[in-house]
Amino acid sequence: MACTKVDTKPWEVTQPLTKRDRVRSEVLERTPSWYNPWVHLAFPSLFGLSFIALALGWLHDVQWYEWAFVPLVLMLLNVNEWHIHRNILHRRTWPLEALFWRHTPEHHVIFVRDDMAMRSRQEFRLVLIPAYGIVAIFVTTLPITIALWMFASHNLAALFVACAMGYTVSYEWLHLAYHLPATNPIAKNGVLKRLSWQHAVHHTPELMQRWNFNVTVPFADWLLGTTYRGPLAD
Ligand SMILES: [Zn+2]
Ligand SMILES: [Zn+2]
Repeated sequence: MACTKVDTKPWEVTQPLTKRDRVRSEVLERTPSWYNPWVHLAFPSLFGLSFIALALGWLHDVQWYEWAFVPLVLMLLNVNEWHIHRNILHRRTWPLEALFWRHTPEHHVIFVRDDMAMRSRQEFRLVLIPAYGIVAIFVTTLPITIALWMFASHNLAALFVACAMGYTVSYEWLHLAYHLPATNPIAKNGVLKRLSWQHAVHHTPELMQRWNFNVTVPFADWLLGTTYRGPLAD
């Protein structure tokens, strides 16, 4: 535990713009020539939406207690989002260190509370999870889907897949929306503005290791007492 704290120390201070711009250019220079931001956004969206459609097609004669399973799963996914963000994206955790390096020293150094906007579409790459991420989520949650299919009901398995895929797609779309320039019509939406402020506070380097880990709805932050309510330095 002590070791992980030392790991993240250098990034817990807001860097001057020149340093942040340097990191930004270094990361963008590593973008492969074949990179297409629209494909990066479209692939997880289409993958997720296709599985939601397929899963909903599997539903048959859903009972009330099966529908009641949906909010429960969404709450658990929200707590899981909090856990992955706090304990994997902000702490070097074997064997997923690559996720830490991409998030804390890159995403958090480049985007800070008062400078959250992407400057070009190429910067989708600095915000979205890798395109294969949603496939990895589908595969790693497959044991739960199979267990529900075999030991509970086919409806519960289908609803679980729809929730997990829907949650992942929402995460991607919301996170991208928070990093849009303020002039973008999507960024002007009142609900998005509130959610985006919650995430912007998390982008204060001095606060990011302890507060506001939910990127979607801040339910787990509320439940686990990690919603930041203190003062904000200029
Ligand atoms: Zn962010
Ligand atoms: Zn973070």
